[in-house]
Amino acid sequence: MSPEEKLPKVRCPHCGKQSDWYDNPFRPFCSERCKLIDLGAWADDRYRIPGEPVPDPDEDEASE
Ligand SMILES: [Zn+2]
Repeated sequence: MSPEEKLPKVRCPHCGKQSDWYDNPFRPFCSERCKLIDLGAWADDRYRIPGEPVPDPDEDEASE
């Protein structure tokens, strides 16, 4: 039996690096940095999707 079977690894969703699942407070990320970056990206995406496309201000001016 290999020790790796007892200690599952998880692949960081951000950078793809493998890290221990159990001894890792930032799982499934490999580090706090990757976690913060990835969560930050998620927050950005949420703000960037209001549901409707934002009208182009230049286009609006031209129609007046
Ligand atoms: Zn990572």
